[in-house]
Amino acid sequence: MAKAIECKKCERAFVPLVGEHATLCKECAPDKRGPIETQVYADLSKYGRDLTTDGAMALRLAREMDSGEATSSALATVSKQLRACIDAALEGVVRERQPTAIDRIRAARAERNSSHQDTA
Ligand SMILES: [Zn+2]
Repeated sequence: MAKAIECKKCERAFVPLVGEHATLCKECAPDKRGPIETQVYADLSKYGRDLTTDGAMALRLAREMDSGEATSSALATVSKQLRACIDAALEGVVRERQPTAIDRIRAARAERNSSHQDTA
């Protein structure tokens, strides 16, 4: 289990990523994330899941993919594990999805119906 340490700059307690010997929190450290890690972090932190064990593992795997050092067969394995870690980290979270045209029509209809009932 990762232990929280104090940021050398803002003195805020934070949990460094697995295998990372950071002394600065995410806000103070220069952003060295690649595109995949950036996206995974955005997805996890939105639900406060970036500090879970599965979330930390997902970020570590994302970094592996971003590094560009893995062979294509290793990448296939890592991406599969990454997906599993993200799913585990976001378990129980109802993920937001973009409303579709159908959703908007339904919402508009529901609104019409409810306002109709109010005046009736
Ligand atoms: Zn800090």
